[in-house]
Amino acid sequence: MNKIRKGDTVRVIAGNDKGKEGEVLRVFPKEQRIMVKGVKMITRHLRPSAKHREGGILQQEGTIHISNVLLVCPECDRPTRVGFHITETGEKLRRCKQCGKTFD
Ligand SMILES: [Zn+2]
Repeated sequence: MNKIRKGDTVRVIAGNDKGKEGEVLRVFPKEQRIMVKGVKMITRHLRPSAKHREGGILQQEGTIHISNVLLVCPECDRPTRVGFHITETGEKLRRCKQCGKTFD
């Protein structure tokens, strides 16, 4: 089970984009990397092609390692490390280490 999932809001804690917050667009579990909206923007120069006659410049998110972000807790709105909690019914939930609340 992943601590960070698509759709989560995360705070970047290292690198050039330190301090930025954004929505997780994609998760690459094997590589432990994520793509965050507006973070680690990379510029790609497109050659002119049939589809893009003029060519051009495309801005696109790159991936960052999940150790470079903290999840922003949906309950207390603070950046936090994530723990896990298993309920009496065997359900595994994530738990905020700041406020102690659990969430899916
Ligand atoms: Zn919290």
